[in-house]
Amino acid sequence: MNATTDRPARRHRSWAEPWKVKVVEPIRMTTRAERERALLEAGFNTFLLRSEDVYIDLLTDSGTSAMSDSQWAGMMLGDEAYAGSRNFYHLEDAVRRYYGYRHVVPTHQGRGAENILSKVLIKPGDTVPGNMYFTTTRAHQELAGANFVDVIVREAHDPASDLPFKGNVDLAALEALIERVGASRIPYLCLAATVNMAGGQPVSMANIRAVHELARRYGIRVMLDATRAVENAYFIQQREAGFAGRSVAEILREFCSYSDGCTMSGKKDSLVNIGGWLAVNDAALYEEASNLVVLYEGLHTYGGMAGRDMEAMARGIEESVQDDHIRARIGQVEYLGEKLLEAGVPIVRPIGGHAVYLDAKAFYPHLDQEQFPAQALAAYLYEASGVRAMERGIVSAGRDRATGRNHHPALELVRLTIPRRVYTQAHMDVTAEAVIETYEQRASARGLRLVYEPKYLRFFQARFARD
Ligand SMILES: *Cc1c(COP(=O)(O)O)cnc(C)c1O
Repeated sequence: MNATTDRPARRHRSWAEPWKVKVVEPIRMTTRAERERALLEAGFNTFLLRSEDVYIDLLTDSGTSAMSDSQWAGMMLGDEAYAGSRNFYHLEDAVRRYYGYRHVVPTHQGRGAENILSKVLIKPGDTVPGNMYFTTTRAHQELAGANFVDVIVREAHDPASDLPFKGNVDLAALEALIERVGASRIPYLCLAATVNMAGGQPVSMANIRAVHELARRYGIRVMLDATRAVENAYFIQQREAGFAGRSVAEILREFCSYSDGCTMSGKKDSLVNIGGWLAVNDAALYEEASNLVVLYEGLHTYGGMAGRDMEAMARGIEESVQDDHIRARIGQVEYLGEKLLEAGVPIVRPIGGHAVYLDAKAFYPHLDQEQFPAQALAAYLYEASGVRAMERGIVSAGRDRATGRNHHPALELVRLTIPRRVYTQAHMDVTAEAVIETYEQRASARGLRLVYEPKYLRFFQARFARD
């Protein structure tokens, strides 16, 4: 079922979605005046807009996928027993079969798994290296007392670098860090695939193999953030020598075999609206995690999910690793990205797996980073078109815990995130036109200033005013 026969050459050949539409959800078109009012009410933060004021919602690919008829049918087969639901065992089977880990702890979503893992493994003062940070992941590591250290390759911070695997770990930097702080103060390495904050960039098989080998020499665990590991596997199939003839499912299994476990947000690759899990190979670690999950999420056979949600996720996992699915999913992202490149719009290259990232520093060179150029760009794009995007720059990066000063990430981006199986190519055309129009008006853009800043993960709830 995995093998795709007669795979078309990737360039210059059209792909089409391997599904047809059975149910539709109407969306509302808005006027510019309505959008201006909505944006003002939202404090120029696209997270604070109401969904009904949005035309094409590219805020996130998290929990926004369209489920299949099989997944919806599975929802009716929910076994809502408090303990030992049959849907849990289906989920466990799916994770074992497609990801290859031995033990599975369900959680309500990815951050639930991050919380449990951080609490089980991190002692105050520890260091956790990672290939660029992710917001919730780093927040949980820091709450548990760890210092996060970025060991991604240098090119990941350069939006114009065309390296095929910009998610890779810089092995020399990792080894230097281990020598400096000592292996005993590094409970695990957190490896994300693909790297969301770098623009959805993949990690190569050669790199994870080398990371695994290096970590093993020092007795350090490798924990995968497997949220978009299926998309990562597709990039390996397309870009890495020796993998062209192998299925995404096979590549995923091998990839995960170089790690000791993973945290997972099922809301991304696994095609569900809610759900996640923690998986580990080590029995003792599983015992601790399945004990802690009872405190924070629920019993270890539901972990904050209804039985029906676990069933939908088990089925979603199987659908997610089909070559036809993943080729169309990433094909749609590439379609949008290539339209923008043709128009000369500055975007992160290569085009990522789940999103196209606009380079706000190149868009608005006249704005200082402290004027939140990416936040400002997301606001202008919404005003012009009703397309909702997300800031991934200085606002998301937050403040240094010690000095209280803003982190200044090299990447100041706006993310156009494509939900899976939701929008058509025509929606991508409309989106491209809106971005191009916003780009044409870039000279008159003004910056923003913060008027309200929450304590944790400020990008979700911060409010701004226009300069
Ligand atoms: C979304 C995401 C998470 C967190 O998962 P939630 O389900 O949103 O809690 C962790 N890591 C990455 C890379 C993500 O994209």
